[in-house]
Amino acid sequence: MSSMKVPFVDLQAQHQPIMNEVMQAIQNVMTKGNFILGGEVAELEAMFAEYCGTKYAVGVDNGLAGEILLLEAYGIGPGDEVIVQANTFVATPAAVSFVGAKPVFVDCDPETYAIAYDQIEAAITPRTKAIMPVHLYGIPSDMDRIMAIANRHNLLVIEDACQAHGAFYKGKRAGSMGHAAAFSFYPAKNLGAAGDGGIIVTNDQAIADKIKVLRNCGSPQKYLHTVSPHNHRLDTLHAAVLKVKLPHLDGWNANRGLRAAEYNKLFEGTNIVTAKYLPETTPVWHLYVVRVENRKEMQAYLNEKGIGNAIHYPIPCHLQPYYEPLGYKKGAFPVTEAYMDKILSLPMFEHMTTEQVEYVAEHVKKFAAEPVTA
Ligand SMILES: *Cc1c(COP(=O)(O)O)cnc(C)c1O
Repeated sequence: MSSMKVPFVDLQAQHQPIMNEVMQAIQNVMTKGNFILGGEVAELEAMFAEYCGTKYAVGVDNGLAGEILLLEAYGIGPGDEVIVQANTFVATPAAVSFVGAKPVFVDCDPETYAIAYDQIEAAITPRTKAIMPVHLYGIPSDMDRIMAIANRHNLLVIEDACQAHGAFYKGKRAGSMGHAAAFSFYPAKNLGAAGDGGIIVTNDQAIADKIKVLRNCGSPQKYLHTVSPHNHRLDTLHAAVLKVKLPHLDGWNANRGLRAAEYNKLFEGTNIVTAKYLPETTPVWHLYVVRVENRKEMQAYLNEKGIGNAIHYPIPCHLQPYYEPLGYKKGAFPVTEAYMDKILSLPMFEHMTTEQVEYVAEHVKKFAAEPVTA
C-alpha cells in the first residue's frame, strides 16, 4: 500500500469549495459594520430552528455558555442536582457546576456510549431537576427512554447536542426532543464557526426569550438590566459564516455516514470494537471511535504512519481533579473506566475519501492483528 498522511480532521478541505461564498459573507459584515447582533444572527437562528424542527433558536458565543444559560433560564442553581453521564466532555457537568448546582454522574451504556439508561432512576433524589443526556460522538441517545423517565419524575431534559448537529432519532433531529438543547459551533464540530460559537434550541418561547436577555447583559432593552448580566452573544461574523455553511451540513453528514459504514465493514470480524447505534437513529459521526487493546502502542504506530488519532476523553469527568470534592472514587463507573484505556478516535471528516478510510483501517487492522510486544 502506498504511503499517505491522513489528518484527524481537514478543515481546509471543508472550506476550500465554499471559500468565495464565505469571504463574501465576511466582507458584507465588514462593510456594514453590524458586528453585534446584526441581522445575520436572527437569520441564522431562524434557519437553525427550522433545520432542527424547533420553534426557537438563540445564538450564543459557545456551547458551554449555551448550557449554562439554559440551566439558568430554567432556574436551576444551588441546592439542585442534574444527572450527567461520566463519559462526556467536561463542559456538560461544568455548566451544572457553574450555576451552583451539583452534577450527579452515572455510567455509560456499554454499546452506544450514551447515558446508562438503567442507572438514571437510581440517581434521582428530591433535589434532582434535570437530566442532561449527551449524543456523544454524534450518536443519538434513546430519547424516548430518557423522556419517559423524565416525565415519570417531572424532570427537565436538556440535550447536549454539541456533537450531533443534524443527527436523527426516529425522524427527529437531535436537540428537538428534550425541553431544550445546546449546540457548539467550535470549528471542528460538524457545523463550525470561524472561532467559538454556539446556539440553543427549544420549543418554549419563555425560555428562548429569557436566553436572549441573559446573553445580552441581562438586558431586555438598552441599559435596562433585569437579570444576571452576562455577555454571551454570537458574533454577526460567525452567524454570517454559519449561514453559508448550514445548507451544506446534511451533505457533509451524509459523507461522514458513508465513511463510517466503510470503516464498520472493514472492522467486521476483527477484534476492533466499533460504536453501536440504535437502528432507528442516523448518527452524524462527529467522531469515529473504536476500542482496541494496546492502545498506547497503536497510537504510536498510527503516529508513525502519519495517521491522525485522538482520545475522547482520556479522563472521565468524575475522576477529573476539579470534581474531586464530589468524592467519586475510581471504580464508581466500571464501563466508562474500562473504556477509558481502550477508546481511540480515528480520522473522520466530511471530505474524507474511501481511499483514506481504507488506508487507516488497513493499518489499524494490521496492528491489531500483530500487536507489538515489548
Ligand atoms: C464541544 C462540546 C461542548 C461545548 O463546547 P464549546 O467549546 O463550549 O463550544 C459541550 N459538550 C460537548 C459534549 C462537546 O463536545
